Order: sequence, then structure tokens, then C-alpha cells
Amino acid sequence: MLKMLTPVEYHQSIYEIDFERLRARGIRGLIFDLDNTLVEWQGMTPGGDLAAFLERIRRLGFEVCIVSNNHPERVEGFSLKFGIPSIGNAGKPRRRAFRAALELLGTSVHQTAVIGDQVFTDILGGNRLGLYTILVVPINKREFIGTRLVRRLERWVLKRVRPQGGS
Ligand SMILES: [Mg+2]
Repeated sequence: MLKMLTPVEYHQSIYEIDFERLRARGIRGLIFDLDNTLVEWQGMTPGGDLAAFLERIRRLGFEVCIVSNNHPERVEGFSLKFGIPSIGNAGKPRRRAFRAALELLGTSVHQTAVIGDQVFTDILGGNRLGLYTILVVPINKREFIGTRLVRRLERWVLKRVRPQGGS
């Protein structure tokens, strides 16, 4: 069971994945989770320069799609914006949507990686089907950590800066 919950790779974000290496391993299709993997949860704000990122992985020759447990309307909105096929209401970790994704991508189980932020949906579902699984730290959590750092830095600066104005 523990093995089913263990990703093959674990990264801070999608931007730290070595996609050239994935290509060299024979991976041709990528199934992305949406919320907290590509964009912040329930938002449309990408964690980084998503358009450039997607352009880069397409240039590397990957087929890409999104498989999300969120409402189809939300997933499709994103899908249209970035021109990526998607499956909403996926019911991960069930395998049905992943199988449909393989159809969309035109790739086999051994040629396909799943990239997501949740062990019990993305990783478990991907492992059950025998896909190459990659876990990333959720965007919200990253931002939270980032915010905390900024606040600390602000406090540090404020303690050392003499108030301007007056005289
Ligand atoms: Mg997610």
C-alpha cells in the first residue's frame, strides 16, 4: 500500500522537473493536475510563468492534458485559456479518467507521467495504473512559505530603517 502512495519523483514545483530527462526515459505524455499544481487552488493565478512553461514542454515534444477532480466548467475555462485538452470531475484516484487521458494523449501507460500535488488522488491513481508519478509541493503552501519569508524580511528591515520624514 505504501508503495502505491509513493511518487517516483518529488519536486518543489513543476518548474523544477527535468523534462529533458523524462523525454530521455521515453515519457511522451504528461497528465497534469490543475489546482495547486498548475494554478493556485480555486484561482486562475499560475504559480510562475505558466504560458512559457507550457510552450517549452510542447517544444520538447510532449502531449499534454489536464485531469482534475474539480468542476468541468472551471477546468474547461483553464483548458481554453491555455489550449490544453482536459477532463474534469475525474474522480481521482479512480483509474477511469486516467485511462481516458491516455486515449486523449495517444500514449501508453509506460510513456506517460502524472504530475500533481496530492498523494491520495494524483499519485495513488497514477501508481494504480502504472504511470510514472511526480509529486509537487502545493502552490498555496509554497506561497504561504514565501509570504512568511517576506514578512520576516519586512520585520528585519523595519527594525533597521530609520523612519523617514519629520526632521
Ligand atoms: Mg491538486
